[in-house]
Amino acid sequence: MTLFDSPAFDAHESVQAFHDEKTGLKTIIAVHSTARGPGAGGCRMWPYASAEAALDDVLRLSRAMSYKNAMADLELGGAKSVIIGNSRTDKTPALFEAFGRAVESVGGRYWAAEDVGTSPADMLHARKSTRFIAGLDGHPAASGDPSPVTAEGVFRGVELAVKRALGGGLDGVTVAIQGVGHVGGFLAHKLHAAGAKLVIADVNQAAVQEIVAATGARAVAPDAIFDETAEVFAPCALGGAITLETLSRLKAQVIAGGANNQLGSAEAGRAMFERGILYAPDYVINGGGITNVAAEIRALDHGQAFDGAWVAAKLDRLMQTLDEVFEQASAERRPTQDVADEIARARIAAAR
Ligand code: NAD
Repeated sequence: MTLFDSPAFDAHESVQAFHDEKTGLKTIIAVHSTARGPGAGGCRMWPYASAEAALDDVLRLSRAMSYKNAMADLELGGAKSVIIGNSRTDKTPALFEAFGRAVESVGGRYWAAEDVGTSPADMLHARKSTRFIAGLDGHPAASGDPSPVTAEGVFRGVELAVKRALGGGLDGVTVAIQGVGHVGGFLAHKLHAAGAKLVIADVNQAAVQEIVAATGARAVAPDAIFDETAEVFAPCALGGAITLETLSRLKAQVIAGGANNQLGSAEAGRAMFERGILYAPDYVINGGGITNVAAEIRALDHGQAFDGAWVAAKLDRLMQTLDEVFEQASAERRPTQDVADEIARARIAAAR
């Protein structure tokens, strides 16, 4: 399969593959759109089974970043990079310096940050070769860990969805959280403080115990989370939680969580709508993290310090946008994910 024949190709502006013989770096940088500004998106390190699988992932992920950045009303386009390799065994400082050289050669059309398999420490090595790296610690423009901001957006999104679907607040509402890592953990604390009852699951027992101790959540086995009786299901682990199979077990009236790529298939998305479940489109509700990173890019570009008030205002606007998606989907009796995609595409087209 060639690039232009790939089902994941969607008029991407550029897709570049880089190889560094000395460090073994194999990376693909895909810039989907720079209509709204330079493309921004994380660098994922994953042991892809084939170059084709890596290409497919970077094409999908970079397009998703265009949509996410447009919905968060950021002056950023969409881009992403993947490094083919095992993040546990293949990382070296020199590999990330070589990655930084690849980013530099894209000439400012791509800003990278950490993602699955990479960390701020890795990005610090990349930054030795390029200034187009964000999501760092330890300088005045630095935005630090984006997870608390992501979780704040997800919390407020759950609140909005519950109000629309159940007509009330979070007090006494049961929320099933799949994955209590960075985002799911912060979310659990916020939901608990708002009076929600929690059922949680994670493959990491230490993370489960910490949240149980702090919030009184009831813990269940990872696969059992889909069978729990809860008004809200919050996917906060990896992608693909919503499939025809898991939908047949879920009893939730609301699906709203922080994970990326929650819908395992378009059919699952359609079935969710037909069941009358209110879904908060993933790339809208979880846009707080990239908003935080955008504040760093903005500060670096203007030689200023990180501006938390700017992030807060953008997050307020993002929550308004999410509510507008709910409103329009309800008025037009359409799936929220279709409405969100349409708004994102229109915002990108308007900037061209
Ligand atoms: P994380 O690795 O800290 O947390 C994920 C948690 O999910 C881990 O505790 C892991 O053990 C658990 N998990 C994995 N497989 C599981 C399974 N089958 N069942 C139950 N738990 C399982 O990652 P994170 O930063 O909290 O991100 C969570 C999700 O949110 C990811 O999909 C990520 O792409 C997305 N996201 C994160 C941010 C952010 O700011 N961190 C922003 C936007 C989107």
